Amino acid sequence: MTTVATNQPYDHNNIFARLLRGEIPANIVAQNEHALAFPDIRPLAPVHVLVIPRGPYTNLLSFSQQASAIEVVEFWKLVQTVAQHYHLDQDGFRLLSNCGSNGGQEVPHFHVHLLGGKALGKMLPSL
Ligand code: 5GP
Repeated sequence: MTTVATNQPYDHNNIFARLLRGEIPANIVAQNEHALAFPDIRPLAPVHVLVIPRGPYTNLLSFSQQASAIEVVEFWKLVQTVAQHYHLDQDGFRLLSNCGSNGGQEVPHFHVHLLGGKALGKMLPSL
């Protein structure tokens, strides 16, 4: 597995940048001016959707530091829209963002995984 350093400059050719430019297909679940949601290509739960900002942010740290207030708000509003779209507001769900090499981040464009549709159990095995 190739992972991304937390301080890596934004790579404009990463797979999600290409997806945003329409160079590779995605089944868009929901979108707004600043964010996009689509199913993960390798789902780990009955619902496994990725939510990404349209702007060029490598990870949660650069998104939080550099994105405008409207980008941040619209991003989290889209997460909420997707959760409601899949009726996850009743039984709950998990949000996950892998950041950097220890986080196991593979794609260097900030994203959250929204997972649900079944009981997901413990977050990680015990130490
Ligand atoms: P990370 O480990 O960076 O948090 O997760 C990246 C996720 O992107 C993985 O779960 C992987 O399955 C997903 N992914 C990688 N390439 C594509 C793609 O081309 N399309 C979609 N829909 N998901 C992808």
